[in-house]
Amino acid sequence: MFLRLPKIDGEIKLRWSRDLPSRPSSVTVMLHADGTYEASFVVKTEPKPAPKPRHNACGIDMGLESLASIVYSDGTREKVAPLRALRKAERRLRKLNKELSRRKRGSNNYSKTRQAKARLYARIGAQRRDLAYKLASKVAGENQAVTMETLCVKGLMRTRMGKSVADAAWSTFTDRVDALCAQWGRKAIHIDRWCPSSQVCSQCGRRDGPKPLNVREWECPNCGAFLDRDYNAALNILDAAGLAESLNARGGDVRRRLASAGRDAIAREAGTHRTAMPH
Ligand SMILES: [Zn+2]
Repeated sequence: MFLRLPKIDGEIKLRWSRDLPSRPSSVTVMLHADGTYEASFVVKTEPKPAPKPRHNACGIDMGLESLASIVYSDGTREKVAPLRALRKAERRLRKLNKELSRRKRGSNNYSKTRQAKARLYARIGAQRRDLAYKLASKVAGENQAVTMETLCVKGLMRTRMGKSVADAAWSTFTDRVDALCAQWGRKAIHIDRWCPSSQVCSQCGRRDGPKPLNVREWECPNCGAFLDRDYNAALNILDAAGLAESLNARGGDVRRRLASAGRDAIAREAGTHRTAMPH
């Protein structure tokens, strides 16, 4: 298919990223830093009907080793793995950066490397956005209420957590969750970022201070619960929204199962534990 634009003679060959669902009413052409052009169209679409929710609520913790750890109000839980392709692209970006610093400014090779870098950069951005959108549509679709932490992304970027925070594209994700929840009649709840989600035991509420990032699990010195850092944080986020209360009503058992990451629990759940990518 070709594109014909006003004031430009002839037809422009282009690669379609997807089919247009209907006749476009307008088109915008952008020039990217990598020298490529992008045409985006305005089209009318029927809004997608809301998917049927499977859970009352979920709490999400944005993580380092897992992109997101999700605890559902019915006692199930899952971790979403970071994209391997994204990691690979980022390694390649670091290599290109090194290469660029070796090249002579203004040389042919310099501009070639610079273009390659810009292309890769654009691809990484698109991958991050895509992942954030998929994850948002999954959690907003599957839950009646979505609880997440407000993160100071800009502040975190400067620390060693930066890369993972960028990976998670957290604010793109939370914005998208908000939009979908509004569209589908779901509740999106934001918990303030000072909620010490990894410092408090989700079982007994004891606060035992910050822990270094390499501490992935620990035993609560007060109640003896064995806690997984990510699930404990996700459950605390659910708790902070007042949504974990239903868990107590159905017996502390659910709560215990949610937070417990004891070695027994891991062995017991090995068969059923889901570590899934968003579809
Ligand atoms: Zn405890």
